[in-house]
This record gives sequence, C-alpha cells and structure tokens, in this order.
Amino acid sequence: MDWPERLRSVRRWTRAGERAPHKPLLLLYALAHHQRHGNVPIVYSEAEERLARLLREFGPRQRTSPGYPFHHLASDGVWRVTTVDGEGSPGSGVTVLREKRAMGSLSADLDAALCADPGLAARIARVLLDDNFAPSLHAGIIALTGLRAAPEPLSEEGGVRDPRFRETVLEAYAHRCAFCGYEGRLDGVLVGLEAAHIRWWSHGGPNEPDNGLCLCSTHHLLFDRGVLGLTGELTVAVSSRFEARSGAAEAFVLSLAGRDLLRPAHGYPHAAPDHVGWHTDQVFRAPAV
Ligand SMILES: [Zn+2]
Repeated sequence: MDWPERLRSVRRWTRAGERAPHKPLLLLYALAHHQRHGNVPIVYSEAEERLARLLREFGPRQRTSPGYPFHHLASDGVWRVTTVDGEGSPGSGVTVLREKRAMGSLSADLDAALCADPGLAARIARVLLDDNFAPSLHAGIIALTGLRAAPEPLSEEGGVRDPRFRETVLEAYAHRCAFCGYEGRLDGVLVGLEAAHIRWWSHGGPNEPDNGLCLCSTHHLLFDRGVLGLTGELTVAVSSRFEARSGAAEAFVLSLAGRDLLRPAHGYPHAAPDHVGWHTDQVFRAPAV
C-alpha cells in the first residue's frame, strides 16, 4: 500500500477549490501522536482543546467544532472511534463525544505500516501539508501538532516551490513587497522577500505571474493567514478580526488598509480577479457569519 498516495485522497475532500482542511488537520495531529505514543488511542476530551486551536488557526474562516473531523474521519477507513459503549462513533456533537469518552486511533493497517517504517509518518505529513496548506503555514502546523520533521519538498519546476515562479514574481514587482514596499539585501543578495501564491498552489493556483505577489516574509504569512487580503480594485484589505496590540502592529498592518497594491512592472500582468476572488472567499478572515 502506498500510504502517502492513499491519504492524498484527502484532496478529494475539497470541493471545487473550497478549503476543507478539517480531516487533514486531525490526521496530522494523529500522526504526531503516533510518532510519540504509537497507537495509544486519542481521548477526545483530552485532545479537544488542541484540535480546536488547530482548526481556529489553520482551518476555514467559519468556526468548526473539533467533533466534526473526529467523527467524520471514521468513514474514510483510516480512523476508528470507540466509546465506553464499544465500537463506533457516537456522532459529531462535542457533548456526546465527551460524555461517551470517545477515543480515536488510526486503523490497524495504517498503524502496522507506520510501525514498520519509521519515516512514513513524516512522508505522509509532507503530502498532507503540500496538498492542503500554503507553504508559509507549514512550520506553524508542525509546531502545533508536535510533528517530528516533515521532509522538505524539493524546489522543482511546476511544484509548490517552483524557482521559476519565484524569480518571475520577484522581478515583476521589482523586488519590493507589494504591500509595504520593503526591499532588502544582505551582501548584495535579496533577503526577506518571497513569492506568494494568491490562490494556493494546493488548491489549483497556477505558478503564473498573475497568481503571484512579491511580499516580505511577514506580510506573506499575514496574507496566507487571512489577516491581509485584496479588494477587487487591488487595494489592501485588513481583516476586522485582527487586533493590533502595539504601535508597530498598527503601522505594519492597520495602516495598509485601503492602500493601493504595488503595480507590477511594465509587461507583467496584474493579479487576476479570479485568484483574488478565491483568496477573498477561502482565506481572508472576513467578519464571522
Ligand atoms: Zn511587506
């Protein structure tokens, strides 16, 4: 069984570009747990807080209960839930999951494969990260789940870290952050600048200049976390859910609201409305509905 490919079917859980990272986040949490404790079951009430935090930070903008993936992942054949009453999940409600002392664990065949191959968990984690999250978010997810090292992906052409994409996008914006204008070099070499995908590569975003923005590292992360967004007129939007707790945060984030995005150099395309629309719908943290 090619487990990374088998679990890549996680990808099919997303519909038409809509982000549905609930199950991948639970799987990443379960893999990290397996690295430390083997297939000792995960007790729902003990994991609830950490799972809720993972969903809040890296899930979709609508609040989602951790009970949702805990219950529904069982239908995919890689996770099983038991309760004090025996086999089977009692449902996705948090109260019943707590009261029935629901416990989840990886399926027996996945457990056996992970035990037989100590590097497998990290390889599966790499696939889940690349298929579901923008690269700037990977380190945060790894830290919060406690995963032990997911191997770095190669910067191959056509992949999520396509070196050609990076080069073209940085050039299009004259090596400046399209939000704040930062340009910096160390010993003559660019430092702290990245090529961001507007529509994530993991969700069908192409490595084309009309899907890229040159951003400084912090604004890139804030863009991928949905603090910053773009309007249809290509001005900067700041989520009303963001709190600036210092003057520096005000200057670095809030002051960008309404500012024109830096325009690309002559001959390079502007950010495409389709990709901007995807980011607005799937990533930008608009007011909760
Ligand atoms: Zn910047």
